[in-house]
Parts: sequence; C-alpha cells; structure tokens
Amino acid sequence: MIQYLTHPIFIVVKEAAITLNQEVYVVGGFVRDCMLGRESKDIDFVTLGSGIDLAKEVANRLEDATEVNYFKNFGTAHIRQQNWDFEFVGARKESYREDSRKPLVESGSLSDDQNRRDFTINAMAISLNESDYGSLVDPFNGVEDLNNGILRTPLDPDVTFSDDPLRMMRAVRFASQLDFTIEEKTYNGICTMASRLSIISQERITDELNKIIASKRPSVGFKLMFDTKLLHEFFDEMIALQGVEMRNGLSHKDNFYHTLQVLDNVAEISDNLWLRWAAIMHDIAKPNTKDFNDKEGWTFHGHEFVGSKMVKHIFRRLKLPLNERMRYVSKLVLLHLRPIALTKDIVTDSAIRRLIFDAGEDMDDLMKLCKSDITSKNERKVQRFKQNLKIVEQKIRDVEDRDRVRNFQPTVTGEEIMEIFKIKPSKEVGIIKNALKDAVLDGEIKNNREEAINFVLKKGNELGLTKP
Ligand code: ATP
Ligand code: MG
Repeated sequence: MIQYLTHPIFIVVKEAAITLNQEVYVVGGFVRDCMLGRESKDIDFVTLGSGIDLAKEVANRLEDATEVNYFKNFGTAHIRQQNWDFEFVGARKESYREDSRKPLVESGSLSDDQNRRDFTINAMAISLNESDYGSLVDPFNGVEDLNNGILRTPLDPDVTFSDDPLRMMRAVRFASQLDFTIEEKTYNGICTMASRLSIISQERITDELNKIIASKRPSVGFKLMFDTKLLHEFFDEMIALQGVEMRNGLSHKDNFYHTLQVLDNVAEISDNLWLRWAAIMHDIAKPNTKDFNDKEGWTFHGHEFVGSKMVKHIFRRLKLPLNERMRYVSKLVLLHLRPIALTKDIVTDSAIRRLIFDAGEDMDDLMKLCKSDITSKNERKVQRFKQNLKIVEQKIRDVEDRDRVRNFQPTVTGEEIMEIFKIKPSKEVGIIKNALKDAVLDGEIKNNREEAINFVLKKGNELGLTKP
C-alpha cells in the first residue's frame, strides 16, 4: 500500500511516532478513497497511545503547520496544513448507552478501533510503523467489499447501528455517493433499527442528507431512505407525496417518484445544492392542496404558494439555513409553474416582464427547475413541452435585451414620493409605488426618471395629492 503514502506527512508522522515509541496507522476514509481513486484531503491517523501527544510531536516537526487544534475531552487533535486536514486520535474501544449517543470511551487496541468503525470499507488501516511500513491491516476484508461495491458493517449490524444510529444514514449516503449496494444483513439491520435514528441530532442527520442530495443520482439515496423507513423519521412531508389515488377512473401521478425524477434531472444539469432542494420542495404541498371535481379531475390549486410557505417550516426543523438560501428555495417553489404558464399561444410582453422581475437573478435557475419538472413516460410529450419552454426562453431573452427589467429598480423611491408631495409615510405612498412598478412592467411608461416622475405626479393627483 506504500503507493498511497506519497504525501510528505507520512514520513514525519512515522518519525514522530518512533520518538514517542507509539504505534501509528492511517485509517478510514483516506485509505478507502485512495483505493477508489477518489481525491481526499482528510487524513486520519490512529495511534496506540495519546493522539494529542503525537499531534504535538508532529506539529513541532512541521515548519508551515498553519493551525493546530487540540480537543482534550475527545483525545483528538487536528492539524491543518494548506488545504490538508490531519486528524490524530488514540485507538479506542467504545460502547454507547441505550438512551444516548454519548459514548463511553476507553483506550484500546488497533483492532478495537477497527471494530467500532461503521463499514468494512471504512475500517482498513495502513501501518506507518518501521517494522511493516505500508502494509494493510484489513481484518474484515474491506478490500473485497470495496471491489464488489458492497457496504457491510464490521460487526453484527444491530450492534454497529445501535452504538451509533447515524451509521444507517451513512450507509445510505455511501450507497448513493459511491453507487454501492448495501449488503442484505446490513440492509435488514437498517429496516429493523430505523426508528433509533430519533436519538441523533438533526444537524448530523442533515449533514448526511445533504451529502445524499449532492450525489450524482440523489434518487438512489431517497429510495433507500424511503424503503428502509429512515426518511419517515424526519421528513413526513415527503412521505405524504407517495401514493396514487383513483377516482372515476382518473388517477394522479405519484408525486414522490415524480419529485425524485425532477431531483435527478436537476442533478444532471447543476451541482447547486439549493437548486436541488428546490426540486425536492417544488410539489411538497400537493398532498395538502389535492382535490377532485368532475370538471377538472384532480387539482392541486395553489400548491406552489402553500409549498413556498412550507419551506421555512421544513428548513427550520431540518436545521437548514434560514437565510437567503431558504428564501431562494421558497422563491423557486413559488414561481415553478410560471414559465410553463407562458407557453400558451398568446403571451403578453407584460407577463414575461413580470416573471423576469419576480425571478430576478434566479431566472436561469428557475428555467432549469422548470425543464427538469417535465417528466412523462410519453417521450413525445416531453419533447413537445421542452420545445415550448425553449420558445419561452427566447421570448424572455428578447424582452430582457429590450427592457432590462431583470434588476429593475423603480427610478423614484418612496422617500422621493413623500418629498414631492410633502406627505408623511402613508397608504398613498404604497399605492403610488405599486402603480409605478406596474406601469413599467406593463410597458405603459419607460423605465426612466422623467417618465417616472410624470407618472407619480399624475397618480398623486388622482389620489387628491398636489405638489405644493
Ligand atoms: P467523508 O469524509 O466523505 O464524509 P468519511 O468516511 O471519510 O467520509 P469521516 O467523517 O471523514 O467520513 O470519518 C472518517 C472515518 O471515521 C470513516 O471512514 C470511518 O472509519 C470513521 N467514522 C466516521 N464516522 C463514523 C461513525 N459515525 N461511526 C463509525 N465510524 C465512523
Ligand atoms: Mg473523511
């Protein structure tokens, strides 16, 4: 395995360990990723003895170690060097109490340490000791599982998963990220233990969830979470999307699988995690707004509006950021039907200007979402819708080139309106401001100062205001 030990840190660690007379190994994700040919900038070292002492010894030998952090309580230490991250930890044995994920930790042997790891492919170690430098220590045959693309717990899955239920999410995450299969006993273990996820903090769950969403085909992970019922532990709204109802011989589509298709479609054209979240949320309110009538069949009126309101609630619960990212997702959910509505034959420039104004700088992402939302088994239908959207895109470009409304700011502000008429903040100011915006978007007046001021004066007069 010596071919993987090219970074100069390995020799430094080896020599530091000789000085301290402590055994040391590279372990976990770095070994796995080397073998998979994936890039990895995190290296975990496990030593028989104090990880902190070893890290100090290593840091002394590094000239340009930019940052060293010691976590006495956990017995771990981090060294950051350029864009590399080295973690040192003493080998340990641990078991978790039933009701908590706070482990009881005691020092242990290398094999104790490998036993408490999550999967066989993550439990491999490479020796940095003088006697067998570069040799692989692989007690659970992780190499074979790696070659076969299999995720398997080193111990009985019930033991591994009850020690730390987050590992069930990690199983799904690796399956989705690496395109691996979860071995049967391990899979059944997840099904049995899924409800134990409840003792894990939402932050840790969401970290794994976001890695699933960031993978190449996120639907793989979502289907696994759904089938094992892990998803049921924290995302009821998505569960509610699943299923088909039939009435008078009419059925609607299964919105869960539709959503996953949209998510995969978005993932194919964009790495933006938040655009992927918008795909997950775009139909989230369909179950709440579902209705049936004889004239229209199944309807989901207002689901884009209700859905956009649900985003905040769901983001808060899932400990996702409640900042401009949330507002971006909410906005895309709200607007996701608008471009399709513009595929009708007669579309006014005004309607297009309004969409450009509402979407602002997120117009391109909205179009990506919209394109991805076209799913049907009927390929001809898909092509026809896509073609229609292309026409809309062209119309948007034309109107944009002409009118530049994307970052449209009214040329007269509320303060100026008050100044013109010498009035205090009042209902009238709002009415005039809105009327001005509409006039520009409807193309009644040009978006320049002269026309705007004239418009404001005229509108003010209509409301009984006069310029003193
Ligand atoms: P990534 O870096 O892509 O998130 P990773 O497997 O390297 O994946 P890390 O969190 O960096 O994950 O952890 C490094 C190693 O520590 C893992 O390979 C695994 O051996 C071990 N490990 C991490 N988290 C757990 C856990 N919850 N249970 C058991 N072992 C774990
Ligand atoms: Mg890692």
